[in-house]
Amino acid sequence: MELPKEFFHTDAIDMLTKVADLVFEPMSKEEFEEVIAEASAAIVALKKIDKNFLELAPKLKIVARFGVGYDNVDVKACTKKGIYVTITPNVLSDAVADLTFALILSLTRRIIEADRYVRTEWARGKKRFPLGVDLNGKTIGIVGCGRIGFQVARRAYSFGMKILYYDSIRREDVEKKFNAKFVSLNELLRNSDIVTLHVPLTKTTRKMIGEKELDLMKESAYLINTSRGPVIDQEALTRALKEGKIAGAGLDVFTLEPIPLDDSLLKLDNVVLTPHIGSGTVETRRAMALKAAENVLYALEGKVPPDLVPEQREVFLKQT
Ligand code: NAD
Repeated sequence: MELPKEFFHTDAIDMLTKVADLVFEPMSKEEFEEVIAEASAAIVALKKIDKNFLELAPKLKIVARFGVGYDNVDVKACTKKGIYVTITPNVLSDAVADLTFALILSLTRRIIEADRYVRTEWARGKKRFPLGVDLNGKTIGIVGCGRIGFQVARRAYSFGMKILYYDSIRREDVEKKFNAKFVSLNELLRNSDIVTLHVPLTKTTRKMIGEKELDLMKESAYLINTSRGPVIDQEALTRALKEGKIAGAGLDVFTLEPIPLDDSLLKLDNVVLTPHIGSGTVETRRAMALKAAENVLYALEGKVPPDLVPEQREVFLKQT
């Protein structure tokens, strides 16, 4: 289990200990190799699950991702070896959508600056605090309108925002429910006051937002990323923020995590940064742990687990 014990909910630990021995990180390289050689299941966070890893794990039946992004897992290699790859869908969408709005409101209402002002200048009465901007009536552009994008649209609609979305698939449910408009990426970038990213990291989405895309955005617009860091060309974003090409950014994910302390993004005032905590609430982490445990139990019982990644659904569900 690529998690320290205290990060995996006791209810899920109870479920699994009935049928298996659990071993938690951290462990030494030697311990890890010993454990993985015998392991039937691996519950993983962001560890790279590649061919090298699989070679060390000949008895593995399932790689259960603790989360929904699986860019760190070589699904093809797992499928070849008959190993299930599962995720924890839906249960974390509200938490990530909440964090997305927390970042949006932090930027538009200058919450970080306001906190600093109260602690240092307010009582001195010399400088007035600058104004923020309203969300009501503004346009949000949702890039990737799947499970999390849908929950972002729900929140945006209740804030009185106009909704544009771009996805490789048209989402008529979002259009009907939230009056969302399906547009091209360029149209979305040109017309949105807030651009928020909710695509998975794949070959096609890597650096999907680079210099050209940032140039299309309004100077007054904010960019939010709670998906995966490499979806944005981070160097291009840093330049755009320095040059005032966009108003600001709210980022939960970075090209390299943890982001190095000398990264120039950390020196900018027009950014709000969080340490990859999209799903980081007590309730959500419990639900994720239970889902991961459920998937593992299915695999250990020789059954196809319920939350296979889409690429494996065809392969393994056909066999049943
Ligand atoms: P999802 O699969 O339900 O939605 C992704 C959407 O992106 C889909 O509608 C899909 O059609 C669309 N898409 C895929 N490739 C595209 C492309 N090239 N162009 C346009 N649209 C494309 O996934 P989800 O549950 O909404 O999660 C989205 C991502 O959020 C995850 O893959 C993960 O990387 C990230 N995430 C981050 C955190 C965090 O802690 N910050 C937590 C959970 C998920």
